[in-house]
Amino acid sequence: MSSLPAPLNPPNRILLGPGPSDVSPRILRAMSAPTIGHLDPHYLRLMDEVRTMLREVMRTKNELTFAVSATGMAGMECAVSNLLERGDELIVCINGVFGGRMADMAERQGIVVHKVEAEWGQVFELAQIEDAFERHPGAKAIGIVHAETSTGAHQPMEGIGELAHKNGALLLVDMVTSLGGTDVRMDEWGVDACYSATQKCLSCPPGLAPVTFSKRAEERIASRKTKCVSWYLDVSMVRDYWGSARSYHHTAPINMTYALREALLMILEEGLEARFARHDLNHRALRAGLEAMGIEYVPARSLPMLNCVRIPPGIDDAAARKHLLDEFGMEIGSGLGPFKGKAWRIGLMGESSSRRNVMLVIAALESALAAQGSPAKPGAGPSAAQALYGSRG
Ligand SMILES: *Cc1c(COP(=O)(O)O)cnc(C)c1O
Repeated sequence: MSSLPAPLNPPNRILLGPGPSDVSPRILRAMSAPTIGHLDPHYLRLMDEVRTMLREVMRTKNELTFAVSATGMAGMECAVSNLLERGDELIVCINGVFGGRMADMAERQGIVVHKVEAEWGQVFELAQIEDAFERHPGAKAIGIVHAETSTGAHQPMEGIGELAHKNGALLLVDMVTSLGGTDVRMDEWGVDACYSATQKCLSCPPGLAPVTFSKRAEERIASRKTKCVSWYLDVSMVRDYWGSARSYHHTAPINMTYALREALLMILEEGLEARFARHDLNHRALRAGLEAMGIEYVPARSLPMLNCVRIPPGIDDAAARKHLLDEFGMEIGSGLGPFKGKAWRIGLMGESSSRRNVMLVIAALESALAAQGSPAKPGAGPSAAQALYGSRG
């Protein structure tokens, strides 16, 4: 090579998009610990600790709980490909990008997909799900997204598990964005398989996908007539690595496991309730500030960690986001699908969910809008957010 690239020197950013979120220095330090063998007794102990803490954060007693060695989409693929076989029927609830991906993924595996759709930004009512089971009594499972990151809609989960089980189906849930940022109650909600990812509210770098499978799901997997279509994601083999057999399946990403372990530890140190309250408070303050600037939310029932808002009329999407990045080192997300150019997605996930970031993003947006000649009253956003924090000073 005639000239080598410069040594690595990525900029410091404030990550307020749909993921990755900011990573705590404590987690980055954990990742820089010495790499050891993936069958080293010390590493095996760390894996056990990860499983134990994951169960606590997921509020489940499920034995089959571990982290897939890949990102959230692999978690989705793991859940879909293990629970269902070619020809099986699956109901998929679609109200945004990720439900759509689940349907596409299942169809590629020869699974018969029945789509139930809701408008983007809306959530599903129980009656709609009940109706889907009436129309498709042969469905072996139903898939739904708890936190639809493309629209910010927060799906209520109560009653869906009961409906699924009454109809002989398993409940498969995408909790990629919700885990660690708002309550997820795997066992109480009757969830049979769920997956998440490290880079959203767990606030790690991307690279692992926590998953959990219920006893019901394990029975389904044990009674399969065909092998899982994916070798890498076949839980009947992966479980022998994470379980007591400890047999080699693949080389786990050791240092990512350090990161996830530290992240889970930080969550439990903070306390689940305190963590959810923090996400909720910062969301409400951001919302108060944005609404005072005349910026409206897209979903009726917004997630606390993902704020999907309409771009004000006359404002250029790309120019505003460039302003945030260039002037403030701040990243927010653009709209997806029908929301492209029409919405912004402001993430307040994990480490990123802080009063500092709420005040910064409101002030930065005020500056970006002013740069484009918006009439928003200066100071309205920050003071509305500030008022919400109230006596906290
Ligand atoms: C981010 C996300 C995914 C995909 O995860 P990757 O880590 O990007 O593979 C899946 N579902 C939802 C709801 C997400 O927000």
